[in-house]
Amino acid sequence: MSLTCNVCRATLTQPVYESPENHSITTMNTLVQGRTHVYFCDDCSHLQTDELPNLAEYYSTEYTINANSEDDDQVYKIIDGRPVFRADHQAAVLQSKLTLPEGCRILDYGCAKAPTLRKVLALHPGIEPYLFDLTDKYRTFWQQFPKPPHTAVGEPNREWDGTLDVVLSFYALEHVSDLDTAIRNIRRLLKPGGFFYFIVPNAYQNIADFIVADHINHFSETSIQVLLERLGFDQVSIDTSAHEAAYVVMARNAGVERAPSLPANSIIADLGKRAAEMSSYWKGIVEKIQHFEDALPEDARVAIYGAGFYANFIALSLRDVSRVGVFIDQNPHLQNTYLYDRPVIAPSALPGNTSHVIVGLNPRTAQFSINAIGVLQLRPIEFLFL
Ligand SMILES: [Zn+2]
Repeated sequence: MSLTCNVCRATLTQPVYESPENHSITTMNTLVQGRTHVYFCDDCSHLQTDELPNLAEYYSTEYTINANSEDDDQVYKIIDGRPVFRADHQAAVLQSKLTLPEGCRILDYGCAKAPTLRKVLALHPGIEPYLFDLTDKYRTFWQQFPKPPHTAVGEPNREWDGTLDVVLSFYALEHVSDLDTAIRNIRRLLKPGGFFYFIVPNAYQNIADFIVADHINHFSETSIQVLLERLGFDQVSIDTSAHEAAYVVMARNAGVERAPSLPANSIIADLGKRAAEMSSYWKGIVEKIQHFEDALPEDARVAIYGAGFYANFIALSLRDVSRVGVFIDQNPHLQNTYLYDRPVIAPSALPGNTSHVIVGLNPRTAQFSINAIGVLQLRPIEFLFL
């Protein structure tokens, strides 16, 4: 069966990556059966993962981001030893990029708990909040908004069409296979000249995104541009530094769809090369982990740093995960939980006899993050960085 590029509709032929195992890890750190195939589009540079057959079931049963409590948010970054939560950072970036006049109508599309809009609303009480999600399982959180929001479940309210100033979307489009329908729906909701503001992961800055099973789309700046132009947006601006390992994108509703200008061959060739490098990285990393494991002394006391995707990947790659005693993480919401029946602990609680730590963090910033943790530097620990 041939696959079509979600961004430019070209036919995708040969995968650039195939997972070695017949299972893959999701963003919720659960395993789904099936091999991951990632394709590179030679026309627009989009990277696309073939949708696994069990994904629908996964979304209906497992996929609930931070639904436990209002504060149960993901850590964006550790700054001076303190966690900065993702929604706080997202709200700050949004306010730096958009002016939000009194009466401005803002919809969070696929909002879940809508923590970012909630924080923005607290500082700009004059805006009109709109919330839409596919499910109503977050409704209790919506009821706690500082100002009653307009809400819709399943489908956006048709009365909202053409009335919104801004539509927001945080970490949603990477999961969507029918981007044409999703983006057209969003444009229909916007006023002429209204802005679509969204955040999606940047696999080129966080290589985990390349193999995570439920991310179908791995955008590049180029593929974002092609997608938005083709579906009726102009004034596209893409910020690759405001939010770590993500693209912060703004585009204006231009009112008409048009043929996009396809990227130059040299840009496609460069991104194709980088995609091939990411593929090689993941093919080689299991061997690297097992090589480290094979060289561990008999009495080694092993910990895994991190409790997210990379940590799970390490645990799955080890021949004998029972050698790992603890997982270490700075996110207070993960501490005192369990992974593989092992406790997740704060760095300061690391047992004194720990001799080896395998670092399950984004390899781009892992060394820096570990160096910043004083209690780990004082110990004679051997680290493995991915
Ligand atoms: Zn394409």
